[in-house]
Amino acid sequence: MTASSRGLAAEIVTTGTELLLGEIVDTNAAWMAQQLREAGVNLYYKTTVGDNEARLRGVLELGLARSDVIIVSGGLGPTADDITRQAIAAATRRPLAMNELALEALRARFARFGTEMTDNNRQQALIPEGATLIENPVGTAPGFIVEADEGTIIALPGVPREMMRLMTDSVLPYLRARSGEAGIIRRRVLRTVGIGESALDNMLGALMLEANPTVGLAAHTAQTDIRVTARAATAEEAEALIDAMAARVMAAVGETVYSTEPGEPIEAVIAALLARVGGTVALYETNTSGMIAERLADARGDDAIPAWTTTSAEMPPFLKELVGAQGGLPSEAAAIACARAVRYAGGAPYGLAVLGTSGSDEGVFGRDAGVTWIALAGDGGEQSVRIPYGGGDEHSAARISNQALSLLWRHLKTAS
Ligand code: ATP
Repeated sequence: MTASSRGLAAEIVTTGTELLLGEIVDTNAAWMAQQLREAGVNLYYKTTVGDNEARLRGVLELGLARSDVIIVSGGLGPTADDITRQAIAAATRRPLAMNELALEALRARFARFGTEMTDNNRQQALIPEGATLIENPVGTAPGFIVEADEGTIIALPGVPREMMRLMTDSVLPYLRARSGEAGIIRRRVLRTVGIGESALDNMLGALMLEANPTVGLAAHTAQTDIRVTARAATAEEAEALIDAMAARVMAAVGETVYSTEPGEPIEAVIAALLARVGGTVALYETNTSGMIAERLADARGDDAIPAWTTTSAEMPPFLKELVGAQGGLPSEAAAIACARAVRYAGGAPYGLAVLGTSGSDEGVFGRDAGVTWIALAGDGGEQSVRIPYGGGDEHSAARISNQALSLLWRHLKTAS
C-alpha cells in the first residue's frame, strides 16, 4: 500500500497474553493512538494478540495488506514467549540477523550493571535483515523498523516507559517525515445539554457528511458531545478550519452548546454564572435522589444550596402540605407552585422544582409511570418543561437532572 495524499494509514498491534486476557490494561495502545493523531497519521486498526508466533504473523500479514505502517509493541524480551522478532521476520520473509550495533549496546549495558550477558540476552540483538535499529537508551531490547515492499513494520518494547521514549525520540519523527504534507490533526469538542443524540444528528444534517473538518457525535449518559476534527499542515490552519466549521455547527444547534471544554459538566458552567450574579438556587426534586443538589453543590464547592427532596425531613411544613396537596399526577401547575414555594422558603433568587412519576416503585406521584414536570421560578416569572418519562433509577435521574440543569442554564445565560 502507498501513502495517499490523506496521510499514512497505520495500525497498532499490542502483544502479550496478559494483555489479551485483561490481566493488564493496554495503556500503550491508547497512548500510541493519541501520539499518532497528533502526528497526523491515520490510525485505522488496533489489534491485541497473545504470545503466539503464528497468530502474530497472521495479524502482521493482514496489516501489511491494508496499511502503510504497523506499529507493534511488546514481545522483544529474551524469553521463549517473546516472539515478535520471529513473527516479523516471517511476515516480511527476511531472516533474522545479528545486529552488531545492537550487540555492542547490549554488552555495554550489561557491563555497566556488572551482570553477565547470557545467550538468551544475545537474542535481543537479532533483528530482521535490512531492518533499521532503534536504539533503546532506557532498556535492553532495541526497537527496529522493517521497510518491506508491502509496507513498514515498526517493533517497540512493551515496557511503557521504553515504548514511549522510542516513540517520542525516533518513531514519531520518522512518521512525520514519511507523511510529509499530511500535517497534524486538531479537535474541538462542543458539549450540548438538553438534547438527544438523534435530534442533534437530524439538526446537523449535511454537516455530518463533510470530510475536513469532520463533525461527529459522542453520546455519554444523558449528554452528547459534538466533535469537530480537522487536518491541516499547521496547527493554525487546522484551528482556522475548525473555527469555520464550529460557526456552522453553532448556527444549527448553538442554543444547546454550553461549553467547549472537554469533560466540563453543565453544573460547572451554571455555578460560574450563579457566582457572577451572586445568586443561588433553591431546589425541590423528586425521584432524582437529590442528584441536582449534589451536582450543583459539587460544582460550587459548598453545600449552601437550599434543597429539599421527597425524603427530606427538614422540609418546611407548608411545602410538605403543598406537595401532599398535589397527590395526583405531576402537572405543570404543581411544578410551578413548588418552584415558587422553594424559592420563597430558600430565600433564593431562583427556585427549581422537579416533579416526576417514579415508575414501578410507586413514589409520591406513583400512579403513572411516565412523566416529569420541571419548573423554574425567578424574578421574571416561571418557565416549565415537560419530559415524557419518569423513573427513579440512576440513568433516568441523570437524564432528568440534565434537563432541569439545562432549563436553569438557558435562563441564567440570557439573564446574565
Ligand atoms: P522486555 O524486553 O522488557 O521484556 P518486551 O518488549 O518483551 O520488553 P513485554 O514482555 O511484552 O515487552 O512487556 C513487558 C511489560 O510491559 C509487561 O509485563 C507489561 O507490564 C508492560 N506492557 C507490555 N505491553 C503493554 C501494553 N500494551 N500496555 C501496558 N503495559 C504493557
